[in-house]
Amino acid sequence: MSLFNTQNIRIYNSLSGEKEVFKPLNEGYVGMYVCGPTVYSNVHLGNVRTFMSFDVVFRYLKHLDYKVRYVRNITDAGHLENDADEGEDRIAKKARLESIEPMEVVQRYTVDFHNILNEFNFLPPSIEPTATGHIIEQIEIIKSIIDNGFAYEVNGSVYFDIHKYNASKEYGILSKRKLEDLIHNTRALDGQSDKKNPQDFALWKKAEPQHIMRWPSPWSDGFPGWHLECTAMSTKYLGEQFDIHGGGMDLKFPHHECEIAQAEATNNKSPVNYWMHANMLIMNGKKMAKSTGNFILPNEIFSGDNPHITKAYLPSVARFFMLQAHYRSILDFTNNGLLASEKGFFRLMDAINIIDDLKISSTSSFDVNTWKQKCYDAMNDDFNTPILIATLFDAAKFINQVKDGSATITKEDLELLKQTIETFTFDILGLVNVSKENSGTDKLSGAVEILIKLRKEARLNKNFALSDKIRDELAEVGIQLNDSREGTTFTTS
Ligand SMILES: [Zn+2]
Repeated sequence: MSLFNTQNIRIYNSLSGEKEVFKPLNEGYVGMYVCGPTVYSNVHLGNVRTFMSFDVVFRYLKHLDYKVRYVRNITDAGHLENDADEGEDRIAKKARLESIEPMEVVQRYTVDFHNILNEFNFLPPSIEPTATGHIIEQIEIIKSIIDNGFAYEVNGSVYFDIHKYNASKEYGILSKRKLEDLIHNTRALDGQSDKKNPQDFALWKKAEPQHIMRWPSPWSDGFPGWHLECTAMSTKYLGEQFDIHGGGMDLKFPHHECEIAQAEATNNKSPVNYWMHANMLIMNGKKMAKSTGNFILPNEIFSGDNPHITKAYLPSVARFFMLQAHYRSILDFTNNGLLASEKGFFRLMDAINIIDDLKISSTSSFDVNTWKQKCYDAMNDDFNTPILIATLFDAAKFINQVKDGSATITKEDLELLKQTIETFTFDILGLVNVSKENSGTDKLSGAVEILIKLRKEARLNKNFALSDKIRDELAEVGIQLNDSREGTTFTTS
């Protein structure tokens, strides 16, 4: 029997606002789509947190023996600077500012994204499709929406007709917004726009002459609207209806609302059964923003090179820290929080690392089977990782008591305990086993910081032969130095 037959997951569905028993469309199979990054800058820590939440969902579903197809896209075109279909394409803008090709921007930040996720021990999704690789599919969907009467063409651009849609369907069903309120709250069109109503959104935009990223279509040389790619790629790989759609809370409106409208207007079906949204990450109680300096890059957590933290942290410690908050809670990123998590992380690892040395007895003073089900119960309750971690600590405490001789365990129970704690800690939470003694991060980062300083001195003295030698020889042993305006940081591979 598969594990999913014995464990009932309940998922908080943003569509209903309630926890619902999870029942996939096809028994034993799960289709999951998560909106991926727009690759025009280094991945934001808040996005890492969102993707980590779904990495854990993916890991747990797989653990329960589901066959999961997990699709997470890369947005490499079509995402404009604001939600009102105005402004420059984010990637094209970055390319213009740096005088490089848009695809160089895409390549650079896709590599950065993957590197960071690898550091955090993410599982790769089953498919990672790109918007530019699915222009034909997007054009086909626009044709269907026009044919079904929910979109109109003006001057080479195509817009989704929200008012027409709302006459027979419900626009705002996910974000609980009413069209009347939206009308009330949006500013009037300025006369420049081709839209019939300001609430309408672009499915296809005609490219201005200076716009580099453009494709031919029946309407104009142009590019697809941002919301469309997710409908095209989720439909292509998961079908007209699928089980789980995830993303950050900030995508609920308008992005996910528009995805629902596009799918309904194409297939006359609600595309997703369970909508899941991960909450925000803030830092020191405030919104993270580069402009205010209240900001940290994921890399800087590993190097310690950021004024908001006092030391470097292992990726697993940062991962543990993030999973100590439930995905639907706001997570406040603080140095004190990380320090506390680091202690907790090593307490758990130390307990796991002494299991094999424990003395066996003829009786157990700990009910391992009940504890094991508590681990499942935590994950079954809307993937409650903080409760799971607290339950793992119960076992860690017991392990230490057995070591001290104040508790006992039988051989079978010890085996079950070891297998269960390892499965939940490493396979499901995705932490990596390191003991404090072996981690060596503090010493390593201290030593590299000394070399970074020496290299800086060498450069100030115009001794470029020495500065290059330091950089190249560090690279040979797998330590990459990254220079930026803010200073030099390092990553290890
Ligand atoms: Zn999306």
